[in-house]
Amino acid sequence: MICLGIESTAHTFGIGIVTHDKILANVRDSYAPKEGGIHPREASEHHASVCDSVLKQALKKAKISLEQVDLVAFSNAPGIAHMLRVGAVFARTLSKVLKVPLVPVNHCIAHVEIGRRTVGCKDPVTLYVSGANTQIIAYQGGLYRIFAETLDMGVGNFIDTFARYAGIPFPGGPVIEKLAKKGKYVELPYSVKGMDVSFTGILTNLRNKLKTHRLEDLCYSMQEHVFAMLVEVSERALAHMQKNELLLTGGVASNSRLREMCKVMCKDRGAKFYVPKKEYCVDNGAMIAVLGLLMHDSGAKFKKKDYCINQRQRTDEVKVLWR
Ligand code: AMP
Ligand code: MG
Repeated sequence: MICLGIESTAHTFGIGIVTHDKILANVRDSYAPKEGGIHPREASEHHASVCDSVLKQALKKAKISLEQVDLVAFSNAPGIAHMLRVGAVFARTLSKVLKVPLVPVNHCIAHVEIGRRTVGCKDPVTLYVSGANTQIIAYQGGLYRIFAETLDMGVGNFIDTFARYAGIPFPGGPVIEKLAKKGKYVELPYSVKGMDVSFTGILTNLRNKLKTHRLEDLCYSMQEHVFAMLVEVSERALAHMQKNELLLTGGVASNSRLREMCKVMCKDRGAKFYVPKKEYCVDNGAMIAVLGLLMHDSGAKFKKKDYCINQRQRTDEVKVLWR
Protein backbone atom coordinates (compact mmCIF):
# COMPACT_ATOMS: atom_id res chain seq x y z
CA MET A 1 0.00 0.00 0.00
CA ILE A 2 1.32 3.46 -0.94
CA CYS A 3 0.38 6.42 1.27
CA LEU A 4 0.93 10.03 0.24
CA GLY A 5 1.17 12.45 3.18
CA ILE A 6 0.73 16.22 3.00
CA GLU A 7 2.15 18.59 5.62
CA SER A 8 1.02 22.22 5.75
CA THR A 9 0.52 23.32 9.37
CA ALA A 10 3.02 26.20 9.36
CA HIS A 11 5.92 27.40 7.17
CA THR A 12 6.54 24.11 5.39
CA PHE A 13 4.63 22.51 2.57
CA GLY A 14 5.78 18.91 2.34
CA ILE A 15 4.80 15.71 0.59
CA GLY A 16 6.02 12.29 1.70
CA ILE A 17 5.33 8.98 0.02
CA VAL A 18 5.68 5.82 2.11
CA THR A 19 4.87 2.13 2.07
CA HIS A 20 4.88 -0.23 5.06
CA ASP A 21 8.57 -0.97 4.42
CA LYS A 22 10.05 2.13 2.88
CA ILE A 23 10.01 5.90 2.84
CA LEU A 24 10.04 6.50 -0.90
CA ALA A 25 10.08 10.31 -0.95
CA ASN A 26 10.09 13.27 1.39
CA VAL A 27 10.06 16.61 -0.44
CA ARG A 28 9.70 19.99 1.25
CA ASP A 29 9.43 23.64 0.32
CA SER A 30 9.45 26.13 3.19
CA TYR A 31 8.34 29.73 3.34
CA ALA A 32 10.79 32.14 4.95
CA PRO A 33 9.63 35.70 5.70
CA LYS A 34 11.93 38.47 4.44
CA GLU A 35 11.59 40.14 7.81
CA GLY A 36 9.60 39.55 10.99
CA GLY A 37 7.71 36.36 11.80
CA ILE A 38 5.53 34.10 9.67
CA HIS A 39 2.86 36.06 7.79
CA PRO A 40 -0.12 33.65 7.45
CA ARG A 41 -1.42 34.98 4.14
CA GLU A 42 2.05 35.01 2.56
CA ALA A 43 2.76 31.51 3.88
CA SER A 44 -0.51 30.15 2.51
CA GLU A 45 0.17 31.78 -0.87
CA HIS A 46 3.60 30.14 -0.81
CA HIS A 47 2.06 26.72 -0.14
CA ALA A 48 -0.54 27.14 -2.87
CA SER A 49 2.15 28.16 -5.36
CA VAL A 50 4.51 25.23 -4.63
CA CYS A 51 2.06 22.36 -4.01
CA ASP A 52 2.04 21.13 -7.64
CA SER A 53 5.79 21.17 -8.04
CA VAL A 54 6.36 19.50 -4.63
CA LEU A 55 3.92 16.75 -5.69
CA LYS A 56 5.71 16.27 -9.02
CA GLN A 57 9.11 16.09 -7.33
CA ALA A 58 7.84 13.61 -4.72
CA LEU A 59 6.33 11.29 -7.34
CA LYS A 60 9.53 11.47 -9.37
CA LYS A 61 11.67 10.71 -6.30
CA ALA A 62 9.40 7.80 -5.33
CA LYS A 63 9.40 6.55 -8.94
CA ILE A 64 5.63 6.10 -8.95
CA SER A 65 2.71 7.61 -10.84
CA LEU A 66 -0.06 9.46 -9.05
CA GLU A 67 -2.50 6.64 -9.90
CA GLN A 68 -0.46 4.21 -7.78
CA VAL A 69 -1.30 6.11 -4.57
CA ASP A 70 -3.69 4.04 -2.37
CA LEU A 71 -4.22 6.46 0.48
CA VAL A 72 -3.93 10.22 1.11
CA ALA A 73 -3.12 11.62 4.56
CA PHE A 74 -2.91 15.28 5.53
CA SER A 75 -2.09 17.26 8.66
CA ASN A 76 -5.47 18.71 9.65
CA ALA A 77 -4.25 19.91 13.09
CA PRO A 78 -2.89 21.80 14.96
CA GLY A 79 -1.55 24.83 13.11
CA ILE A 80 -2.37 28.10 11.42
CA ALA A 81 -5.73 28.08 9.60
CA HIS A 82 -4.54 29.76 6.39
CA MET A 83 -1.88 27.15 5.76
CA LEU A 84 -3.87 24.18 7.08
CA ARG A 85 -6.60 25.01 4.58
CA VAL A 86 -4.24 24.82 1.58
CA GLY A 87 -3.16 21.30 2.58
CA ALA A 88 -6.73 20.24 3.34
CA VAL A 89 -8.07 21.37 -0.04
CA PHE A 90 -5.14 19.77 -1.88
CA ALA A 91 -5.61 16.49 0.03
CA ARG A 92 -9.38 16.38 -0.46
CA THR A 93 -8.97 17.01 -4.18
CA LEU A 94 -6.37 14.26 -4.57
CA SER A 95 -8.45 11.75 -2.63
CA LYS A 96 -11.57 12.57 -4.71
CA VAL A 97 -9.76 12.40 -8.05
CA LEU A 98 -7.93 9.18 -7.16
CA LYS A 99 -10.98 7.69 -5.39
CA VAL A 100 -8.83 6.66 -2.39
CA PRO A 101 -9.48 7.11 1.36
CA LEU A 102 -8.42 10.28 3.14
CA VAL A 103 -6.89 10.29 6.65
CA PRO A 104 -6.68 13.42 8.85
CA VAL A 105 -3.49 13.40 10.93
CA ASN A 106 -2.37 15.25 14.07
CA HIS A 107 0.97 16.93 13.32
CA CYS A 108 2.45 16.48 16.83
CA ILE A 109 1.69 12.74 16.94
CA ALA A 110 3.19 12.40 13.46
CA HIS A 111 6.49 13.74 14.85
CA VAL A 112 6.45 10.94 17.45
CA GLU A 113 5.53 8.20 14.98
CA ILE A 114 8.18 9.04 12.39
CA GLY A 115 10.65 8.94 15.29
CA ARG A 116 9.44 5.51 16.39
CA ARG A 117 9.60 4.24 12.82
CA THR A 118 12.99 5.59 11.79
CA VAL A 119 15.14 5.35 14.94
CA GLY A 120 13.63 2.23 16.42
CA CYS A 121 12.58 3.43 19.88
CA LYS A 122 9.47 1.64 21.11
CA ASP A 123 7.80 3.59 23.87
CA PRO A 124 9.59 6.93 24.24
CA VAL A 125 8.99 10.07 26.19
CA THR A 126 9.15 12.62 23.35
CA LEU A 127 10.60 16.08 23.76
CA TYR A 128 9.04 17.85 20.78
CA VAL A 129 10.60 21.28 20.32
CA SER A 130 9.75 23.31 17.25
CA GLY A 131 8.83 26.85 16.26
CA ALA A 132 5.27 26.74 17.50
CA ASN A 133 5.31 23.68 19.75
CA THR A 134 7.01 22.69 22.96
CA GLN A 135 5.54 19.51 24.44
CA ILE A 136 6.65 16.45 26.31
CA ILE A 137 4.50 13.63 25.00
CA ALA A 138 4.21 10.03 26.18
CA TYR A 139 1.81 7.20 25.45
CA GLN A 140 -0.39 6.02 28.27
CA GLY A 141 -3.82 4.41 28.39
CA GLY A 142 -4.71 4.69 24.71
CA LEU A 143 -3.64 8.29 24.26
CA TYR A 144 -0.56 10.35 23.56
CA ARG A 145 -0.67 12.54 26.64
CA ILE A 146 1.07 15.85 27.18
CA PHE A 147 3.09 15.66 30.39
CA ALA A 148 4.69 19.06 30.08
CA GLU A 149 4.39 22.00 27.74
CA THR A 150 5.04 25.66 27.27
CA LEU A 151 2.64 28.03 28.98
CA ASP A 152 3.21 30.73 26.38
CA MET A 153 5.30 30.48 23.21
CA GLY A 154 7.09 27.58 21.51
CA VAL A 155 10.81 27.43 22.23
CA GLY A 156 11.69 27.90 18.53
CA ASN A 157 9.55 31.03 18.29
CA PHE A 158 11.16 32.25 21.50
CA ILE A 159 14.65 31.75 20.06
CA ASP A 160 13.65 33.36 16.74
CA THR A 161 12.11 36.37 18.51
CA PHE A 162 15.21 36.88 20.64
CA ALA A 163 17.25 36.61 17.43
CA ARG A 164 15.03 39.22 15.76
CA TYR A 165 15.58 41.63 18.68
CA ALA A 166 19.31 41.11 18.15
CA GLY A 167 19.02 41.81 14.40
CA ILE A 168 19.45 38.18 13.32
CA PRO A 169 17.08 37.09 10.53
CA PHE A 170 14.69 34.09 10.65
CA PRO A 171 15.42 31.34 11.51
CA GLY A 172 17.59 32.54 14.36
CA GLY A 173 18.32 29.17 16.00
CA PRO A 174 21.36 28.08 13.96
CA VAL A 175 23.04 31.55 14.19
CA ILE A 176 22.42 31.72 17.95
CA GLU A 177 23.94 28.25 18.35
CA LYS A 178 27.12 29.44 16.60
CA LEU A 179 27.36 32.65 18.65
CA ALA A 180 26.77 30.68 21.88
CA LYS A 181 30.05 28.81 21.30
CA LYS A 182 31.92 32.06 22.01
CA GLY A 183 29.84 33.08 25.04
CA LYS A 184 30.21 33.14 28.82
CA TYR A 185 27.63 32.53 31.53
CA VAL A 186 25.24 35.31 32.61
CA GLU A 187 22.43 34.59 35.05
CA LEU A 188 18.90 34.67 33.53
CA PRO A 189 15.48 33.74 34.91
CA TYR A 190 14.84 29.99 35.08
CA SER A 191 11.18 29.37 34.47
CA VAL A 192 9.85 25.89 35.29
CA LYS A 193 6.34 25.89 36.77
CA GLY A 194 5.39 22.43 37.95
CA MET A 195 5.95 20.37 34.82
CA ASP A 196 5.51 23.32 32.47
CA VAL A 197 7.92 25.89 31.09
CA SER A 198 7.49 29.54 30.19
CA PHE A 199 9.60 31.73 27.93
CA THR A 200 8.14 35.23 27.71
CA GLY A 201 9.73 36.48 30.95
CA ILE A 202 13.14 35.24 29.84
CA LEU A 203 12.58 36.94 26.48
CA THR A 204 11.93 40.32 28.11
CA ASN A 205 14.95 39.86 30.36
CA LEU A 206 17.15 39.04 27.35
CA ARG A 207 15.78 41.99 25.40
CA ASN A 208 16.74 44.35 28.21
CA LYS A 209 20.18 42.77 28.56
CA LEU A 210 20.89 43.32 24.84
CA LYS A 211 21.69 46.95 25.75
CA THR A 212 24.31 46.03 28.33
CA HIS A 213 25.71 42.57 27.52
CA ARG A 214 27.67 40.85 24.75
CA LEU A 215 25.38 39.04 22.35
CA GLU A 216 27.56 35.90 22.50
CA ASP A 217 27.14 35.73 26.30
CA LEU A 218 23.37 36.10 26.02
CA CYS A 219 23.16 33.37 23.34
CA TYR A 220 25.24 30.99 25.45
CA SER A 221 23.31 31.72 28.64
CA MET A 222 19.94 31.54 26.90
CA GLN A 223 20.78 28.03 25.67
CA GLU A 224 22.10 26.92 29.07
CA HIS A 225 18.99 28.09 30.93
CA VAL A 226 16.28 27.19 28.46
CA PHE A 227 17.64 23.79 27.47
CA ALA A 228 18.22 22.91 31.14
CA MET A 229 14.53 23.72 31.76
CA LEU A 230 13.49 21.36 28.95
CA VAL A 231 15.81 18.60 30.08
CA GLU A 232 14.64 18.93 33.69
CA VAL A 233 10.98 18.36 32.82
CA SER A 234 11.89 15.60 30.35
CA GLU A 235 13.74 13.77 33.10
CA ARG A 236 10.80 14.12 35.47
CA ALA A 237 8.48 12.72 32.79
CA LEU A 238 10.81 9.74 32.29
CA ALA A 239 10.92 9.11 36.04
CA HIS A 240 7.18 9.52 36.56
CA MET A 241 6.26 7.29 33.61
CA GLN A 242 9.04 4.78 34.37
CA LYS A 243 10.05 4.85 30.72
CA ASN A 244 13.61 4.49 29.53
CA GLU A 245 13.70 6.08 26.07
CA LEU A 246 13.87 9.78 25.23
CA LEU A 247 13.06 10.90 21.68
CA LEU A 248 14.12 14.44 20.79
CA THR A 249 12.41 15.95 17.74
CA GLY A 250 11.23 19.18 16.08
CA GLY A 251 13.37 21.84 14.42
CA VAL A 252 15.16 22.82 17.64
CA ALA A 253 16.40 19.20 17.93
CA SER A 254 19.11 20.28 15.45
CA ASN A 255 20.83 22.12 18.29
CA SER A 256 23.94 20.24 19.38
CA ARG A 257 24.00 21.69 22.91
CA LEU A 258 20.41 20.53 23.53
CA ARG A 259 21.33 17.08 22.21
CA GLU A 260 24.36 16.97 24.47
CA MET A 261 22.33 17.89 27.55
CA CYS A 262 19.70 15.25 26.73
CA LYS A 263 22.43 12.67 26.18
CA VAL A 264 24.06 13.39 29.56
CA MET A 265 20.73 13.21 31.40
CA CYS A 266 19.81 9.92 29.72
CA LYS A 267 23.23 8.40 30.41
CA ASP A 268 22.97 9.36 34.09
CA ARG A 269 19.67 7.57 34.52
CA GLY A 270 20.35 4.61 32.23
CA ALA A 271 17.88 5.67 29.54
CA LYS A 272 18.42 5.54 25.77
CA PHE A 273 18.49 8.75 23.76
CA TYR A 274 17.21 9.01 20.18
CA VAL A 275 17.16 11.79 17.58
CA PRO A 276 15.75 11.13 14.07
CA LYS A 277 17.60 12.32 10.95
CA LYS A 278 17.17 16.05 10.43
CA GLU A 279 14.74 15.64 7.50
CA TYR A 280 12.42 13.73 9.85
CA CYS A 281 12.82 16.16 12.79
CA VAL A 282 11.68 19.23 10.88
CA ASP A 283 8.12 19.50 9.55
CA ASN A 284 7.79 17.01 6.71
CA GLY A 285 5.29 15.05 4.66
CA ALA A 286 6.80 11.61 5.33
CA MET A 287 5.72 11.75 8.98
CA ILE A 288 2.14 12.54 7.92
CA ALA A 289 2.16 9.58 5.55
CA VAL A 290 3.64 7.28 8.22
CA LEU A 291 0.92 8.15 10.72
CA GLY A 292 -1.77 8.08 8.00
CA LEU A 293 -0.81 4.49 7.21
CA LEU A 294 -0.86 3.50 10.89
CA MET A 295 -4.29 5.04 11.40
CA HIS A 296 -5.68 3.46 8.25
CA ASP A 297 -4.36 0.01 9.22
CA SER A 298 -5.86 0.35 12.70
CA GLY A 299 -9.32 0.75 11.15
CA ALA A 300 -9.81 4.33 12.34
CA LYS A 301 -13.17 5.69 11.16
CA PHE A 302 -13.76 9.36 10.45
CA LYS A 303 -16.81 11.56 10.45
CA LYS A 304 -17.22 14.56 8.17
CA LYS A 305 -16.08 16.95 10.91
CA ASP A 306 -12.83 14.99 11.40
CA TYR A 307 -11.75 16.08 7.93
CA CYS A 308 -12.06 19.75 8.87
CA ILE A 309 -8.98 21.65 9.91
CA ASN A 310 -8.57 22.05 13.65
CA GLN A 311 -6.14 24.80 14.64
CA ARG A 312 -6.12 23.91 18.31
CA GLN A 313 -6.49 20.16 18.52
CA ARG A 314 -4.59 18.78 21.51
CA THR A 315 -2.34 15.76 21.18
CA ASP A 316 -4.51 13.81 23.64
CA GLU A 317 -7.73 14.35 21.65
CA VAL A 318 -6.81 11.64 19.15
CA LYS A 319 -7.74 8.03 20.01
CA VAL A 320 -4.66 5.91 19.45
CA LEU A 321 -5.95 2.63 17.96
CA TRP A 322 -2.64 1.57 16.43
CA ARG A 323 -0.76 0.82 19.67
P1 AMP B 1 10.10 23.63 13.03
O1 AMP B 1 9.01 24.54 13.49
O2 AMP B 1 10.02 22.24 13.62
O3 AMP B 1 10.29 23.58 11.53
O4 AMP B 1 11.46 24.22 13.59
C1 AMP B 1 11.90 25.51 13.28
C2 AMP B 1 12.56 26.10 14.49
O5 AMP B 1 13.75 25.40 14.81
C3 AMP B 1 12.92 27.53 14.29
O6 AMP B 1 12.40 28.27 15.37
C4 AMP B 1 14.44 27.52 14.29
O7 AMP B 1 15.03 28.69 14.82
C5 AMP B 1 14.73 26.35 15.19
N1 AMP B 1 16.09 25.82 14.99
C6 AMP B 1 16.60 25.30 13.85
N2 AMP B 1 17.90 24.98 14.03
C7 AMP B 1 18.20 25.29 15.31
C8 AMP B 1 19.39 25.22 16.11
N3 AMP B 1 20.53 24.73 15.62
N4 AMP B 1 19.31 25.65 17.39
C9 AMP B 1 18.16 26.12 17.90
N5 AMP B 1 17.03 26.23 17.21
C10 AMP B 1 17.04 25.83 15.92
MG1 MG C 1 6.45 20.47 13.75
